[in-house]
Amino acid sequence: MNSLFLTLLSLISAYQYYSYQEIIDTFKKLEVDHTDIFKLYYPTKNLDNLRYLDCGDEECQFFYAEFAQNPNVNDLPTVLIAAGFHGDEVIGQNVVTELAKYLTSESKLEFLNNRRIILYPMVNPYGYYHKVREEMGKDANRDFNIDNPSSICFQTNAARGLAQVYNKYIIQLGITFHGGDNSISYSWGTYNHKQNGLATESPDDNAMEMIARIMKDIAAENTHLQIQKYSMGRMTDLVYEVNGGYEDWAYAAGWEKTNSCGNRNSEEYSKPSSNARALTYLIEAGFQKQPKSNTLGTIETTNQILQNWPPLHFYDEKILTKYQQSYGNINRNFMASLSLIDLVKPYLIVKWDGEKELILNFGGCYSITKLTIIRSDNTSIIKDQNTTGIWDQFNKGYVVPNITKNDLFEISYQCDVQNFKTQRNPDPKLPPQSYFVQSRINNTYEYQFDKYLIQNTNKILFRINVSQLNQTQMNQLFENQQFSIYVTQSSKEGQDQQIKINNNSNNKKQHIWWLLAIFILLSFVLTILLYKYCSKKQEEQVMEMYTIQNEVKL
Ligand SMILES: [Zn+2]
Repeated sequence: MNSLFLTLLSLISAYQYYSYQEIIDTFKKLEVDHTDIFKLYYPTKNLDNLRYLDCGDEECQFFYAEFAQNPNVNDLPTVLIAAGFHGDEVIGQNVVTELAKYLTSESKLEFLNNRRIILYPMVNPYGYYHKVREEMGKDANRDFNIDNPSSICFQTNAARGLAQVYNKYIIQLGITFHGGDNSISYSWGTYNHKQNGLATESPDDNAMEMIARIMKDIAAENTHLQIQKYSMGRMTDLVYEVNGGYEDWAYAAGWEKTNSCGNRNSEEYSKPSSNARALTYLIEAGFQKQPKSNTLGTIETTNQILQNWPPLHFYDEKILTKYQQSYGNINRNFMASLSLIDLVKPYLIVKWDGEKELILNFGGCYSITKLTIIRSDNTSIIKDQNTTGIWDQFNKGYVVPNITKNDLFEISYQCDVQNFKTQRNPDPKLPPQSYFVQSRINNTYEYQFDKYLIQNTNKILFRINVSQLNQTQMNQLFENQQFSIYVTQSSKEGQDQQIKINNNSNNKKQHIWWLLAIFILLSFVLTILLYKYCSKKQEEQVMEMYTIQNEVKL
């Protein structure tokens, strides 16, 4: 009876492929139902000389959605999930549509509240409608102005539309979904960064690799559905090198040499090109471009896993077997996308046993360095400790012992700084270039593009008041960052709470310290001046006496 129920449930909640029209209808309905947080944009609307692309009775529609709980906050870290450069590679378009439905649903995860997520379900709608790879005979993923002979870039509406996203937002992390292979790959994938047949390392290679590993791990494998583990590496090595590929453009057009595109209006693409420094992943989402429907997985599986986010249990084989029948092609790529969205910003999860231990889990990070915990009476509990974030497979949380109800303390740490700084043979020989890595490793980093802004997340600081751990309002945030902390009581009630943070009092304190420092400095200078003045006077008196004495002698 029980197994019959489970079979029925998985049948009802099985993922299905959406048609071209269903994707449009789904996004438009979500916009109507969630106007404050989910907005559609039509990136080709103001472009000249577009090709006419026919999708049935009407022109093909280019659109993407912006999801943000607070879209007007100008420093939200921004992630772009794009799919469907090649219209016959169909997993990605469906993953992105499921992400849109999930993000706007009531069950969303709290870490999503402080992020801007751009969902671009069909980069090449013509291809998806007609079930063909190219946009009317042209490959949109060879159409960007990087490592590309001039006069053959930005010919397709698809490439021109996607570039417009970079005309508006500062994209920090990105995925582009393809199909036909089973890999997660990253820069380089151009001819001009190749040596002895292999890709050279980009300046951000270490960060690229670490994050790819996290996505690969969560995408797991499922022998029941003939899904293998993703391989991972650089694009030239795993897929092949191309001219004018989107991934290298998105990562490097902002700092590498770009090409002009013949007659194409350079105003249209020069600004977005100058703003492209996103760590961007190519996911080849399975050996088949259109896997069978019964390998897509179920919504029920996604929901079960999300109840336990962060999904540490993926490393626990007993728990993994629970999902083995139904962790399908949509599930695994949905989870890989969420892990990337998670990583764009550090946050802290605090669990309290209600007695004397706190457990800290560091979200948005793989490894933690310089973890320092200081009590309000200035006694340090931990100093300069290294530990791991939620994506480390051995992570069970960091235990802070001997906590009492009245404690007030401060937690500071660095998130992935050491790993991201490390380089072996960067080509070209430059420090990391992506916005994402620079903002983590450089403690004065700031970048502004029109109304949007990225600030450094080099040092992270939270203040925790233990007596308020069960209440909604509690902590303050350090440095102008807006971090979310959510507190989970490990008691039975187990309700997660979102904590809003402000740093006003901290700023005030900083001002007082500055004033005090200036006052001390001024007093010091005055004392020296006074002393010099007095010694001079004394010297003059002595000289006078000396002169007088001399005169007397004469
Ligand atoms: Zn492709």
